[in-house]
Amino acid sequence: MWFNGLLDLSVPQLLLVALALTHVTIVSVTLYLHRHSAHNSLDLHPALAHFFRFWLWLTTAQNTKEWTAIHRKHHAKCETEEDPHSPVVLGIRKVLLEGAELYAEAATPETLQRYGQRTPEDWVERTVYTPHKHWGIILMAAINLMLFGVHGIWIWAVQMLWIPVWAAGVVNGIGHYLGYRNFECADNARNISPIGILIGGEELHNNHHTYPNSSKLSRRWYEVDIGWGYIRLFQLFGLAKPKGYRPIAHYVPGKQEVDVETVQAIANNRFDIMRQYRKRVMEPVLRQQKALMDEEVRPRYRKLKRLLSREVTLIKPREQEHLESVLERHDILRQIYEKSHELQALWRQRGLKPQEKLQALMDWCKDAEASGIRYLEEFAAHLRAYSLRPA
Ligand SMILES: [Zn+2]
Ligand SMILES: [Zn+2]
Repeated sequence: MWFNGLLDLSVPQLLLVALALTHVTIVSVTLYLHRHSAHNSLDLHPALAHFFRFWLWLTTAQNTKEWTAIHRKHHAKCETEEDPHSPVVLGIRKVLLEGAELYAEAATPETLQRYGQRTPEDWVERTVYTPHKHWGIILMAAINLMLFGVHGIWIWAVQMLWIPVWAAGVVNGIGHYLGYRNFECADNARNISPIGILIGGEELHNNHHTYPNSSKLSRRWYEVDIGWGYIRLFQLFGLAKPKGYRPIAHYVPGKQEVDVETVQAIANNRFDIMRQYRKRVMEPVLRQQKALMDEEVRPRYRKLKRLLSREVTLIKPREQEHLESVLERHDILRQIYEKSHELQALWRQRGLKPQEKLQALMDWCKDAEASGIRYLEEFAAHLRAYSLRPA
């Protein structure tokens, strides 16, 4: 009996237990380390926060200050030489295979000092978790052996590999490399899958980089963020309070007058506005133009579709050349492309006074409405209806 440990479980049961244990670890990372500690987008009851901290010590040897500091630096320096784990800079192989090593390298005293503010420094952190960060995983190995016998060894190995592979490797690597983009945020973040269960919703990485202060990572009706499900569940028991997930702008049907609030609402909601511009203006105009495209352009239609709305800093020189040559041949595409950049100037251009921004938006709408391009006219009317307050 000792061979199978105190619980004496069958292999399917053991597999389920391994999955459940690693799931608790993933939930601890996404809720506690990521949303609560690094981004402060989630308040947690101290008891629940400490449970997660204890569990992470037990299963990952991960220190809250280190993780938090490295992650905040990742957002602050995204896809630059200073980003601790950018596949754009370091290559996907390195981030996928050496994710955990990159964390260890990045945890310098300067980084911890600069980005590690507001992390636990209580007695148990100072005397146990930080100085004895590996005791937890040793204790876990002993518990596993006791409960699951020899099977405790592979369960422990799976537990030890889970975060380096899924979080450090897959989220940090694939999440900045492959997948779809809902929003044109300034870095290369992507949503790996619309159903975020395996890694607790962290699959929705483009949404997260676009709205880093939101505790909810899903943005479209078909996206599922299981971390958000847990937050709502804990909230029912008074153990969690999400922040930053409410709408930052309101659409007021029938509103026609552009005012300072409209400008503010549009700027707050800029990523969503630009997504709507892509859907409501760029794509329909592009579809109309497709019939007129010559042999050189048509095969690259899908690429062109992406390039037209791509964040400018992410367009490579060769892509820029291609885009320019198409815009030269299709005047209507040039018009809608330029209008998209004029609109973005509202929040990209620094130092504009509110009144100047208001004038710029009014001019933008007037021009769009006089452009003779139906989709652009309709979009201007759509923009006018934005406000900071609901109807
Ligand atoms: Zn990222
Ligand atoms: Zn983050």
